[in-house]
Amino acid sequence: NKITIAIDGHSSTGKSTIAKQIANKLGYVYVDSGAMYRAVTLYAMKQGLINEDDFNIEALIDQLNKIDISFKFNENLGFAEVYLNDENVEKAIRTLEVSGFVSKVAAVSEVRKKLVAIQQQIGNDKGVVMDGRDIGTVVFPDAELKIFMTASAETRAERRYKELIDRGDDVIYENVLKNVQERDYLDSTRKDSPLIKADDAIEIDNSNLSLQEQHDKVLGLVTK
Ligand code: C5P
Repeated sequence: NKITIAIDGHSSTGKSTIAKQIANKLGYVYVDSGAMYRAVTLYAMKQGLINEDDFNIEALIDQLNKIDISFKFNENLGFAEVYLNDENVEKAIRTLEVSGFVSKVAAVSEVRKKLVAIQQQIGNDKGVVMDGRDIGTVVFPDAELKIFMTASAETRAERRYKELIDRGDDVIYENVLKNVQERDYLDSTRKDSPLIKADDAIEIDNSNLSLQEQHDKVLGLVTK
């Protein structure tokens, strides 16, 4: 019997890596809910609704019905990439610039309402692994398995820094750490669906766990 797996936690805890592996192993669909918030953020940036510290929330809310977010499976990569109005934005949403704004966009209730509805629709069929911040609390409160991943801010910043450098971005570690801490703060203090561990979620601190150890741990929970 297929189940729904919700993986929540702070930024850069490696949720998506584990979620993808587990989905592939089980033949489940992996959904990166953060990519959807990032895609809306990219849209707002492209439309000039976000400039430095100025964010035109009203205009974004007005234009929400013009934003189409979807996923298409990429055979080569082995996971579904995110599309913004039919354009593949999987790479464009991973910049530090988008990361710098996304938590502000994700704090807008209308944005959350729209994306949560899409997420719940995708999850209508069981056999889904979805990662995010509110999957076990809001999107799938009845998920059979809920994981809450944590790690120290420094460990997470180091991981994200390496990723950005590997993809050729010109960043400094201190700024990445600052972004991780800022997102932690914004995600856990926002009014609508703050990042909190669901009562029935199992917490995994992966600061000192290898990928293999995390994989085995989660898989063990699935088959239990
Ligand atoms: O998972 P990722 O770090 O790519 O998510 C980017 C941002 O999107 C998070 O920092 C958070 O502000 C927002 N987010 C959210 N709810 C989700 C997934 C992501 O608010 N379910």
